[in-house]
Amino acid sequence: MQNLINHVYIDGEFVTPHGTELFDLFNPTTGKVIGQVQLADEVDANAAVAAAKRALPAWSATSKEERIDALRRLQIAVAARSEDILEAILTEYGAPRRNTYMVDSTVTAFADMIETLESFDFTRQIGRATVELAPVGVAGLITPWNSDAFFICDKLATALAAGCTVVIKPSEMSATQTHAIAQALHEAGLPKGVLNIVTGRGDTVGSAISRHPEVAKISFTGSTATGKIILSQAVDTLKRVTLELGGKSPSVILDDADLQQAVTGALMAGFANSGQACVAGTRILVPESRLEEFLAVATEKMGDFPAGDPRDPGTAIGPMVSEQQWNRVQDYIRRGVDDGARIVVGGPGRPDGLPEGYFVRPTLFADVTNDMAIAREEIFGPVLSVITYRDEDHAVEIANDSAYGLHAYVFSSDPERAHRIASRLEAGRVSINGGYEPLSPFGGFKQSGIGREYGTFGLEGFLEPRSVMV
Ligand code: ADP
Repeated sequence: MQNLINHVYIDGEFVTPHGTELFDLFNPTTGKVIGQVQLADEVDANAAVAAAKRALPAWSATSKEERIDALRRLQIAVAARSEDILEAILTEYGAPRRNTYMVDSTVTAFADMIETLESFDFTRQIGRATVELAPVGVAGLITPWNSDAFFICDKLATALAAGCTVVIKPSEMSATQTHAIAQALHEAGLPKGVLNIVTGRGDTVGSAISRHPEVAKISFTGSTATGKIILSQAVDTLKRVTLELGGKSPSVILDDADLQQAVTGALMAGFANSGQACVAGTRILVPESRLEEFLAVATEKMGDFPAGDPRDPGTAIGPMVSEQQWNRVQDYIRRGVDDGARIVVGGPGRPDGLPEGYFVRPTLFADVTNDMAIAREEIFGPVLSVITYRDEDHAVEIANDSAYGLHAYVFSSDPERAHRIASRLEAGRVSINGGYEPLSPFGGFKQSGIGREYGTFGLEGFLEPRSVMV
């Protein structure tokens, strides 16, 4: 008997959706159906928004201490379900077990927001005005399949911290993960209606939420194409929007870099989340003078990133999430070859010994120019392009010659020089030699999005300033 997930979470209760469509859920490791989800429809979306609207006056009036207390309960409840969440991620998404950050970050999303809230001031004095930062209202949170559990918890923590009530529309492909998370969140015992979760299709439930007159704010993570649709859907009611979209992030390897460390760092950045990450560093910019050396080291180190069963602790790259995604990656590998790029490692087809499921061969292309499709478009798979540059100015020019600007990586043995380059890059985040700060703002320049998430910048995205002048 296959698993049937047939509830949505509205007004503090698990209820059978009004929607009747059954949607198949897959295990990408085997390519087999593992269950079905009964999808919500517009009626469910409207019921969820109505519940969130009813809960708003009381929740928006809570104190900072009450919100911190609620976030703590959520954190404890999600941590207690870590095993279930991991199991759901392994089975339904195929993320390698060694990527424990997928579950860890889901729990720490609450801790990070507690830390942010503790030192956050909701009133500021500007001259004679007292500026009050008020919750924007009911927030619609729309999440993708690549890290569904984390995005739900991160957006939820931020919205609740601001005093907003929420309607979450997770990816329809992630219903098993959402089920595990929803059980945990329910156990935290939030007031009825503060949190609602309606799993349904984007063009029905997602669209209803992003057009709904009672929804004041949309926080969306997903593709740039869908982000543009959501923006247009939100325009009639002038919703506030935060869009975290696609990327084609550069890894700039400076000529003074320690190649052993830089190659490992660049491959880790490129293969993050099996390549299915908006922040993946998929364009590796290498000085012309060090190309052969780079390729020799990279060829050897590609062996440290094997594709395989996500439950095997040695696996670095799991299957693609769906057959559609598998086909998309294959198409791009073929286009790379057709456009004249050279396959150094990997290539089309399946890896040896993995005849089932949606596995692709981790692929490294050389002889890529920045005008090729594989250098311009987001592939969302483990396919990396090596592009050479002449000097620093040329490296910056190539790095910035992209419709996207989400993330960038710089590798150098001279941190000051690396910082000078970083300051010229059109990217919302720049990581030097693997540097990371979870509370720093996250989001993109250009078509990588609008607004920022995480920390105080993320919190302010759910707040409206009100100046009171005497
Ligand atoms: P992917 O599925 O490749 O992550 P999408 O950007 O298509 O990328 O999907 C991200 C989220 O946006 C999913 O929850 C999806 O259901 C939702 N979505 C898709 N189309 C729309 C739409 N027209 N309006 C609102 N949400 C949508």
